[in-house]
Amino acid sequence: MLSVSEARQRILSRFQTKTPETIHLDQAASRILAEDIFADGDYPPFDNSSVDGFALRAEDSSAASTTLSVVADIPAGVAPTQTLQRGQSARIMTGAQLPLGADCVIMVEDTDFNVRSAGTQAPKTVTFSKNMRVGENVRSRGTDIRNGEQVLAKGRELRAQDVGLLAMLGRAQISVYQKARVALMSSGDELLGADEALTAGKIRDANSYVLAAALAKHGAEVVRLGVAKDTRESVAQTLNRAAAQNADLILSSAGVSVGAFDFIKEVVDENGAMDFWRVNMRPGKPLAFGEYRGIPFVGLPGNPVSAFVGFEVFVRPALERLNGKMDGIRIQVRARCEEEILSDGRESYLRAKLRVENGIYYAALTGHQGSGNLLSLVQADALLIIPAGVKCLPAGSEADAILL
Ligand code: AMP
Ligand code: MG
Repeated sequence: MLSVSEARQRILSRFQTKTPETIHLDQAASRILAEDIFADGDYPPFDNSSVDGFALRAEDSSAASTTLSVVADIPAGVAPTQTLQRGQSARIMTGAQLPLGADCVIMVEDTDFNVRSAGTQAPKTVTFSKNMRVGENVRSRGTDIRNGEQVLAKGRELRAQDVGLLAMLGRAQISVYQKARVALMSSGDELLGADEALTAGKIRDANSYVLAAALAKHGAEVVRLGVAKDTRESVAQTLNRAAAQNADLILSSAGVSVGAFDFIKEVVDENGAMDFWRVNMRPGKPLAFGEYRGIPFVGLPGNPVSAFVGFEVFVRPALERLNGKMDGIRIQVRARCEEEILSDGRESYLRAKLRVENGIYYAALTGHQGSGNLLSLVQADALLIIPAGVKCLPAGSEADAILL
């Protein structure tokens, strides 16, 4: 049977990063940048005051009482026109451009004009007793970013602060990779909609919701195709609808084990090719990969926890490749097991709750690990990875944990 890493490699080798598109910055949050970004100038673009106060020449200040005339009033957003001479100062607001001749700013609190209420006129003179340094309370041009400096790299998932920086640089249009487009289907005669009352022998389709949410969270556009019945015809018809969606991936759940009604593998093979359908892992052994009418196909297991784990381990990396995400840090930590953990030797992903004590993570399993027990996944904040070949992890031993 294929190992998890071989299976992941086989899947990844079928995907290529999508072509870029240009979007407005309004739409940029969480998109993946498709260009390196360089500053178009110095930032801040001009020397400006970091406080409300008076701009002056440092050489005019002293620890003894000093009085300067106030010859200008400079609000933020207005370019000063006057050059300060010796003995002169200008009232200046935070963010306003420093006038020529000035080289520092004394805070209003350090002067005799300690009036900060809105609408107050500037005084005629200002008096203070303080030795000022050249550059004090001044944010000089270019101290944050130099003209031509690279500030963001291709492949980055844009965060709120990144979008703000792009706005600061005037990059209203940016190039990002097109979103992966995924056709999503469930399968099984037992499945009802989330809004339907339970009847004998039926359960509700949880997987469509788990997977649609996970796909959206990782930057994919989802086309939901509903539920295929457990007949060859219904499976073929749903897969054909999926193939008509111009999707980068067809994602299904259930119907890929060896049950008498599991037609998916057969139908995929008839109109494409199955590459593999079992992976040496737990949960999630029946995991199918192939292509259907030329489109990559991933058949996740039916049990909701298995489907989720299969998504995390195989589909999410494929989406990152499609979406061009290159800074994809899988949030993984080392954690100490609070209890002895037994495994059957397959690579196992166990649902665990973490706590931190003195900087060390401790992991406790969240109830029974049946692959249908979605509540234990809801209660978990990590998947604890028990490597292949390990049958027992004694209490206190360490394992990798993927943070959820
Ligand atoms: P199968 O692979 O079709 O044998 O399904 C395995 C298990 O997963 C069965 O118990 C199914 O009832 C269950 N299952 C299949 N699809 C879903 C779904 N969409 N939501 C919740 N459970 C499901
Ligand atoms: Mg089924």
